[in-house]
Amino acid sequence: MTADEAMDAAARALFATSFGTDPAGVWSAPGRVNLIGEHTDYNDGFVLPFAIDRRTHAAARPNGTGRVRVASTFADGIVEVALDDLDTMFPADAARPGAAPNAVPNAARVAQWAAYPLGVAWALRLAAAARTAAGVDLAIASDVPVGAGLSSSAAIEGAVASALNDLWGAGLDPVALAQVGRRAENEAVGAPTGIMDQMASMLGRTDAAIFLDCRTLHADVVDLGFAAAGLEIVVIDTRVSHTHATGGYRDRREACERGAVLMGVPALRDVSVADLARAQTVMDATTFRRVRHVVTENQRVQDAVRTLRSVGPTAIGPLLDASHASMRDDFEISTPELDVAVSAARAAGALGARMTGGGFGGAAIALTPRDRVDHVAAAAASAFEKAGFAAPHVFSVEPSDGARRDA
Ligand code: ADP
Ligand code: MG
Repeated sequence: MTADEAMDAAARALFATSFGTDPAGVWSAPGRVNLIGEHTDYNDGFVLPFAIDRRTHAAARPNGTGRVRVASTFADGIVEVALDDLDTMFPADAARPGAAPNAVPNAARVAQWAAYPLGVAWALRLAAAARTAAGVDLAIASDVPVGAGLSSSAAIEGAVASALNDLWGAGLDPVALAQVGRRAENEAVGAPTGIMDQMASMLGRTDAAIFLDCRTLHADVVDLGFAAAGLEIVVIDTRVSHTHATGGYRDRREACERGAVLMGVPALRDVSVADLARAQTVMDATTFRRVRHVVTENQRVQDAVRTLRSVGPTAIGPLLDASHASMRDDFEISTPELDVAVSAARAAGALGARMTGGGFGGAAIALTPRDRVDHVAAAAASAFEKAGFAAPHVFSVEPSDGARRDA
């Protein structure tokens, strides 16, 4: 049985035990790895993620009531909400204009995980004006690791959005469904994330990445050619957990906003590498380093796309290395574990390596020739042991197709 078949079976089994019947269909959406372009999305910049061969499956069926019921293999029990109550539940109070700063989100009325699928139901109804959407049962199973920087959140959003889009006949396209997922995450869950994860999960293709302009949402498929070049992406999950909602992430976003204001532009996307000399004269040193990361990272994404198209994937290693150095030194979102993972991978034969995801923990990725994959895994494990860190979780991911109906 493939991993996909196992997750499909798990979602069906959970559906049967939770709701006493078979689903009408199963939809799935993948997690993602961001090859390059970190903290550029909310600066209207460029990113180059790919969907991975780890997916979240949602088995679903209309239930003939006005209620949404959700179950997940990650949590006990069924969470049940009337469709008409979604509008009073979301957005979370904390996200409402004029809400007290410490307002307890209404979403706290349901288990935190259930705010993802229920938030998608809420946002999809608004986007599609599908006010008559009928009640539905959902059972979710996933092999996307949670909190490892692989976006299990976009995977659950994409799977549920795809299922409801079909069952409700909402007719939204993949980009609109990505926006539904983002809205759910921002306003129902209350996590201030960009659009990258959802776009990668919706639009991914086998052995290809998505070159996304986060200002226009224009997305180009860029062939990676890993298979032909004998390359793999090794993920080294440090198992140090991150949370996007904490101070570090907000602080970086504020620094970027401040930098854009001081440069007199709508977003850091509008600042070029050539503008950095002027930037240094109009802002404090810390804000400047945050700005420099974003500006140079945007350039690296564009350079990576050009290099992939002209030379091929073996040539992008130095760009990955430069991206990591920029996040470690200028944006200051790396951790000792991530730095050790990156240098161990490189010493063991990776062509390039960098932390991926929001930072403050999570995973590093290493572009690795197939015959060096075992060396990289062993080197990471022994470097972690030597440094006194808990053992990392090391595995390869393959660039894969985006959200789809499976059955
Ligand atoms: P990640 O980097 O994995 O996206 P996030 O904190 O953004 O980390 O999202 C993880 C959260 O998403 C989990 O804590 C849980 O609330 C929810 N989630 C993800 N996948 C599932 C799932 N299969 N079942 C239930 N909840 C899930
Ligand atoms: Mg996430």
